[in-house]
Amino acid sequence: MLTSQSLYRRWRPQRFSEVIGQDYTVKTLQNAVAQGRLHHAYLFAGPRGTGKTSVARIFAKAVNCEAPREGEPCNECPACQRIGRGISLDLLEIDGASNRGIDQIRQLREEVNFVPAEVKYKVYIIDEVHMLTNEAFNALLKTLEEPPRRVIFIFATTEPHKLPPTVASRCQAFEFKNIPPELIARKLQEISKAEGIKVSPQALRAIARRAKGSFRDAEVLLEQLASYKSEARIEEEDLLQLLGLPREEVLAEYLRACLARDASAALEIIARVSEAGKDPELFLEGAVELCRDWLIARLGKGEESALPELEFSNDELVFLSDRLLELKRELRFLLDKRIVLEVGTLRIIEGLKGLERKGSGNPARPRAKPEQAPQPPAPPAEPDEKWRLMLEEIKQERVAVYAFLAEGRPSFREGRLCIEYGPDYRFHKESLEKAENRSFLLEMVRKFYGDLAVEIGFAAHAPAGADQKKTQLRQKVELIKRSFHGRLVG
Ligand SMILES: [Zn+2]
Repeated sequence: MLTSQSLYRRWRPQRFSEVIGQDYTVKTLQNAVAQGRLHHAYLFAGPRGTGKTSVARIFAKAVNCEAPREGEPCNECPACQRIGRGISLDLLEIDGASNRGIDQIRQLREEVNFVPAEVKYKVYIIDEVHMLTNEAFNALLKTLEEPPRRVIFIFATTEPHKLPPTVASRCQAFEFKNIPPELIARKLQEISKAEGIKVSPQALRAIARRAKGSFRDAEVLLEQLASYKSEARIEEEDLLQLLGLPREEVLAEYLRACLARDASAALEIIARVSEAGKDPELFLEGAVELCRDWLIARLGKGEESALPELEFSNDELVFLSDRLLELKRELRFLLDKRIVLEVGTLRIIEGLKGLERKGSGNPARPRAKPEQAPQPPAPPAEPDEKWRLMLEEIKQERVAVYAFLAEGRPSFREGRLCIEYGPDYRFHKESLEKAENRSFLLEMVRKFYGDLAVEIGFAAHAPAGADQKKTQLRQKVELIKRSFHGRLVG
């Protein structure tokens, strides 16, 4: 049964081994404590709800613990207990977003040189540090330039780029990552079992997906649902109700209607969704996500179950995905969202009509068995494992860029990386050259190859696997692209 204390607080990790999804950071910090190699200042950067302040508190305990084991706090000695109960002199938490920030920093500057003798390390955690005023940063910087002994700063932020470089450069930085849904679901299951919360596995997975990497958000959702259902089992439907989200089947139906160029079916689904009181924006967000899942599944990653029938080509999915995303952005600023959704859907379907259908020549064809697995990327001519690894990572981060890149052929010439396309791949080449995609690509190339110029061009010969049918498709995509102001990938 739920008590008055929230799940989030009750299940806050108390030792490094209980933290999920931040293995590298946690291992490094734990080793540092075990070996007594401590820095004066740490920067914990990452999205909300990923464990920054929890890890900071565990760290504060670990450095002050009287009986640490391999860098883990014992959670039993007086120092651990005091920190656990929030009454310790060893730890001071400052909220950078509160108005008291500057006063607290001033106070910090005064007391930082007089650490009580009974304290091993005085740890200052400054949360949302990027919110501090310039005045506060300057005060802080003075302290960081001549750090007093036995004082450790931990700065936590969701927006590290807003930190003055003078402050950031004095810290050892750790990146906290979004927690993968599988890990969230597994932990939620453990929690609900211990708390006697009945919840279906589907609901747990749906909560984990909804939380988008934030474990705290997942716990809050679970708690809300548990208090709403009391003794009854929580089902996926309850979550959808709570959030006003449409069911996945409805989203899939909508995507299929669009891909089948069936305007009246698509409008009918929108009408149903609106009449059920669902938010058009959330509906569209769900559709964008599902379309992206399909695309990822088609490109060889992701859950089996997310695979739609294969009568749609990658180009159709990329097109739809891109248009829906654009429509979603538009929708945000407009009042009559339902009408915008309807008109936008019609526009998308018109656009799709210009694209050749997969297995063309027989548009009315019912479900077809896939003739062929999706084309694998052209084998790299000279480069190597690195290229493959880079594509893997790009696929995870920007699936559309991956789709364009996978059709190109890499080679190294005179310290340049050349990515070449056959004459029919103008569309891919140009999409990749768009500023946003190009800078993303350059960033990834830098990460994997170091400083290397990148050239995107046409090859003298078409890459293997390009056939006539593809040529026709590219030409049509070309046409569509022109009629839609040349934008395809956002
Ligand atoms: Zn202890």
